[in-house]
Amino acid sequence: MRTVITGGAGFVGSHLCERFLAEGHDVICVDNLLTGHLRNIEHLGADPKFTFRKHNISEPLLIDGPIGNILHFASPASPADYLAHPIPTLKVGALGTHNALGLAKAKDARILLASTSEVYGDPDVHPQREDYWGHVNPIGPRGCYDEAKRFAEAITMAYHRHHGVKTRIVRIFNTYGPRMRLNDGRVLPAFMGQVLRGEPLTVFGEGQQTRSFCYVTDLVDGIYRLLHAEYSEPVNIGNPVELTVMELAREIIAMVPGTASTIDYRDLPEDDPKRRRPDITHARSLLGWEPTVDREEGLKRTLAYFRTVI
Ligand code: NAD
Ligand code: UDP
Repeated sequence: MRTVITGGAGFVGSHLCERFLAEGHDVICVDNLLTGHLRNIEHLGADPKFTFRKHNISEPLLIDGPIGNILHFASPASPADYLAHPIPTLKVGALGTHNALGLAKAKDARILLASTSEVYGDPDVHPQREDYWGHVNPIGPRGCYDEAKRFAEAITMAYHRHHGVKTRIVRIFNTYGPRMRLNDGRVLPAFMGQVLRGEPLTVFGEGQQTRSFCYVTDLVDGIYRLLHAEYSEPVNIGNPVELTVMELAREIIAMVPGTASTIDYRDLPEDDPKRRRPDITHARSLLGWEPTVDREEGLKRTLAYFRTVI
C-alpha cells in the first residue's frame, strides 16, 4: 500500500509518516518546507519505504504508479504562520486540496483531508458538534485559514458526491507534542519556551478563553481509524478536557520548579475564539476512539522534547 502524505515534514505530518511506515505502508512525503523542516523526518530517511518529494501541492502533482491513500495535511496551521502567509494558506486550502483530490480521483485512492476546529470560528454552540455550521468572520485576520479549510471541506464533499471519490474529513482540535516548532506562536510551544528560558509567559487577554488539548499520538490514532472507516462526513478528533489559557500557563510554570517565570498579559488577538471543546460522540461510536494520553503525561513528554531543542 502506497500512501502520500502532504505536509509530511510538519509537526502532525511527521508523526503520520512514522505511523504509516510502522503499519507497513510505503510513504511518499510531499512538502515544500514552508513551515515544516527536514529535521522532522531525517530519522525516517534510511527506511527504503520512505521517500521525500519537495513540492508545493498548490501546483499539480504527478506520481507514477498506484497510490492507495492520500493524507492531505499541507497548510500553515499556527495563527502566526497563517498571518505571515495568508495567500499561500488560501492557495493550499483551495488549489492544493483540488490537486490532492485530482490525484485521488486519477489513482482511485482514498483521501483524508485535515480540516480544523477553526471551521466553527468563534463558536456560539458549545461543545462543538459536527452538525454545527460555525460562526466565522470571513474577512478577519483568521479568515484566510478558516475559509480555506471550509472551501477544502466543500470541494472534498463535491468530489465525493460528484465523482464518487472515497473521501474522509477530520476536524482537528488543538493538538500538541514533540516536533512542534518552538517559535510557531502557538500557545503551548510559546509557554514552554518561555518557562525554559525563565521569561514571563505571554497570556493573551485575561487568559479566560478555553482550549482542549489533544496529544499527537492520540490524534494520529484517530486519523488512522477514520481513514479505514466507511464514513465521508466530517469527524471531530480532539481531547474533550477543556481548560483556560491561564490554567495552562499555571500548569506549565508548575512543571519547572524554581523558575523565575511570571505572567505577562498581552492584548487578545482579533477574533480569538473564546471557547473550544470538541464533542467526540461520533469518533467514539464510529471509530471506537478516544484519547488515552492525559495532559499531565502529554505535557511531560512535550517539555522533555523542548528541552532538547531550546
Ligand atoms: P505544520 O506547520 O507543522 O505542518 C504543515 C506542513 O505543511 C509543513 O511541513 C509545511 O511546510 C507544509 N506545507 C504548507 N504549505 C504547503 C504547500 N503548499 N505544499 C506542500 N507543503 C506545504 O502544522 P501542523 O500543526 O502539523 O498541521 C498540519 C495540518 O493539520 C494542517 O493542515 C493544519 O491545518 C491541520 N490542523 C492542525 C492542528 C494542530 O493543532 N496541530 C489543528 C487543526 C488542524
Ligand atoms: N495564546 C496566549 N499566549 C500566546 C499564544 C497564544 O495566550 O503566547 C492564546 C491565544 O490567544 C488562544 C490560545 O492561546 O486563545 C490558543 O492559541 P494558539 O495560537 O495555540 O491556537 P488557536 O487555538 O487560537 O488556533
